[in-house]
Amino acid sequence: MKYTDLSIQTQREAPNNARTQGFAFLVRAGYVMRENQPTTLGEYALKHLEKLSAALGDSFFSTLAIPVISNEEETYFPLKTGALEVIHCPACGYVARGEFALFAKSASPVEEALPAEKVATPECNTIEDLANFLGIPKEKTAKALLFTRQSDGKLVFVVVRGDMQLSEAKLKKQVGTVKLAYFDEIEAAGAVPGYASPIGLKDALIIVDDLIPNSPNLVAGANEIGYHLKNVNYGRDYSAEIVTDLVQAEEGNACVNCEQPLSAVSADLLDSKGVYHFDKILHALAESHYDDKGLTLPHSAALFDVYLMHVPGKTLDTKSVAAKLYESLQKAGIAVLFDDRDERAGVKFNDADLIGPPVRVTVGERGLQNGMVELKLRSASQNSLISLTSLTGLTGQAEFWSLVDNLDL
Ligand SMILES: [Zn+2]
Repeated sequence: MKYTDLSIQTQREAPNNARTQGFAFLVRAGYVMRENQPTTLGEYALKHLEKLSAALGDSFFSTLAIPVISNEEETYFPLKTGALEVIHCPACGYVARGEFALFAKSASPVEEALPAEKVATPECNTIEDLANFLGIPKEKTAKALLFTRQSDGKLVFVVVRGDMQLSEAKLKKQVGTVKLAYFDEIEAAGAVPGYASPIGLKDALIIVDDLIPNSPNLVAGANEIGYHLKNVNYGRDYSAEIVTDLVQAEEGNACVNCEQPLSAVSADLLDSKGVYHFDKILHALAESHYDDKGLTLPHSAALFDVYLMHVPGKTLDTKSVAAKLYESLQKAGIAVLFDDRDERAGVKFNDADLIGPPVRVTVGERGLQNGMVELKLRSASQNSLISLTSLTGLTGQAEFWSLVDNLDL
């Protein structure tokens, strides 16, 4: 492809909305606009990634050298601007979306069930207030959360330990779509808002976190304004229709597989059940491969193998030589971006570094007088001279890369 046909627009400066280097270089190299819509060049890059994904299958991300974390269903790329929060175990590689992540829960110490006891707890509307007022840790309290199920209007009474947060996503997976219950819906089931207890409810679906049956003598609501019950025990005082994992995993919790501490990480979703998000993959590719001058795309992922350019000559027509070389490289199956502009060498060198093909070939007057062109790897600081005929005589990609690999660069 030709630079002018693609209407590539590179930028000297990073856009001021760029929060990451990779995104800044995608904009500066002209793959995407600053609002993240792909340009013509970007559209080609996305199509190229799509083709690679089909050809490479399971080795797609490793071939692109993108450091992903993945489970059986989804692949994530850790990035501070990522749209998802995932829970990741650096020790064993376990990863899941934050709202569905599992962790190893530690059961409370075994205690004999004590007799339930009503205590006055004035103005204790939150777990925090309640624990402070009674001088107990939050894990000795039961937190009640009340919802109404959308499908049948049933009150859903959720109990989790007071030191944990409910994952609404896990709840929804168990009972369907819910919304926070209104005052009158709570009262209709026989509960008192703010002091709700699962004991003695009528016509409510009770669902408790699986840690609750192993947490003896908790403080729970008494269904009476201003009062709580001490020593509430699951099984003796109430039971639930569903006992399952309902709480949110957090940074520092123990990994469900190896018990090492979990990390909470922002990430982009690259693949979900075989559906690839190529815009995110292009972004991840850029974040994984750049230096201070621009993108350094690996040969396996680059849209173009070669950035071909000419330096306008005084006596020789370098442009038409470059154009002929362009034709023969294309014929040999090598993907070439031909910078056909009559710009100064420095401008083109900068663009080659920004856009990032792994090889740059320069047709200049001085080399051409001896039948030579300059070849430079994007990753190298020095270039080397190579005969024009060794490039025009190529018959395929493999031959090109073995020629490049054998150069002393
Ligand atoms: Zn682990």
